[in-house]
Amino acid sequence: MRAETTLASQIVEAIQVVVGKNPVVLHEPRFAGNELLYLKECLDTTYVSSVGKFVEHFEVELAAYTGAKHAVAVINGTAALHIALKLAGVGLDDEVLVPSLTFVATANAVTYCGAIPHFVDCEERTLGIDPQALHDYLLDESEIRNGQCVNRNTGRVIRAVVPVHTFGHPVDIDRLLSVAQDFHIAVVEDAAESLGSTVSGRHTGTFGVTAALSFNGNKTITTGGGGAILTNDPELSRRAKHLTTTAKMRHRWEYSHDEIGYNYRMPNINAAIGCAQLEQLPSFLEAKRRLFQRYQTEFAEVKKLRIVVEPEGCRSNYWLQTLLLDESVASQRDTILDSTNDMGLVTRPTWTLMHRLVPYRKYPRMELSVAESLVRRLINLPSSAHLTMVGAS
Ligand SMILES: *Cc1c(COP(=O)(O)O)cnc(C)c1O
Repeated sequence: MRAETTLASQIVEAIQVVVGKNPVVLHEPRFAGNELLYLKECLDTTYVSSVGKFVEHFEVELAAYTGAKHAVAVINGTAALHIALKLAGVGLDDEVLVPSLTFVATANAVTYCGAIPHFVDCEERTLGIDPQALHDYLLDESEIRNGQCVNRNTGRVIRAVVPVHTFGHPVDIDRLLSVAQDFHIAVVEDAAESLGSTVSGRHTGTFGVTAALSFNGNKTITTGGGGAILTNDPELSRRAKHLTTTAKMRHRWEYSHDEIGYNYRMPNINAAIGCAQLEQLPSFLEAKRRLFQRYQTEFAEVKKLRIVVEPEGCRSNYWLQTLLLDESVASQRDTILDSTNDMGLVTRPTWTLMHRLVPYRKYPRMELSVAESLVRRLINLPSSAHLTMVGAS
């Protein structure tokens, strides 16, 4: 090894050993199954919109795959989160605990309910909410009044907590559930990134009262745009369907709506793609695990960083592969991003923390030192399943 070999050049080399020297994007979908066949059926039968057999089929298959009792397909993951929160009882002037380290949709969905996101810290082991830190914080800052958790500083009810299974790695859900139970707070899982990820064999998104999945173009499977609400509660599932179909009452001809609903149902053409994608999910997950293992082997040789591994007892879908730099080399992050992107290897830093975004600066938050550190050190690597799929280009 040459003396002047920099960390950035070692990283470029390691990525190239795994993915080759041609340009690669961060994440792209793969359509190698029945997508065209199912789409053609939609067009031939004219069922392209929110009525059609693929929507129901997709919901049944999603429920079967995740083990959730019910799945309700909607237009995107953000809409799924919005309704999942509403069903958990989140309303005007409630506070909802949200990790600062997340995609903006998590916080946005809270504000769509008229509620206030309250930002909490993560732990490095899972990249998700730190249950112990949350417990200590709530002990100091909240009290139980009439069976509800009230923020002592604002006087508002803390109604729910939204764990995010970041990049597909499950949060420490068992301990988080117990903290939530102790403080009378509902759990709504943001499982947008974690289709295929499990905790002790149980699928993420089946632990909370409700959960949201996303099938955006960059997720593990895609429907173009799409999402789903998961729940084990038949009444909440019925409410989810009702609210997402403009709250229209069943009648042969009357247009009667018994509350203000939403036009959030997933169209049949999106669900058709979803059905075909779900059939390929097991092969995508195998490919992503293989990709992780190859990166792990290559990066074992590189000092001052590590590749993020699924938490113990969990199985991650490895949606986005992630490097974590040591704090001592965090200042080289942008040089590394430049070098890799210059070579056509698309790498990305993670999101801007929510409490640093203009619309969210004014909201309550706890000390966020772990999230701040993770953002300085985190780099997502090219992660498409097709990179390690046999017969894929
Ligand atoms: C993708 C994503 C969403 C939102 O999903 P869309 O389908 O893009 O609306 C929500 N939360 C997280 C953490 C996500 O990654």
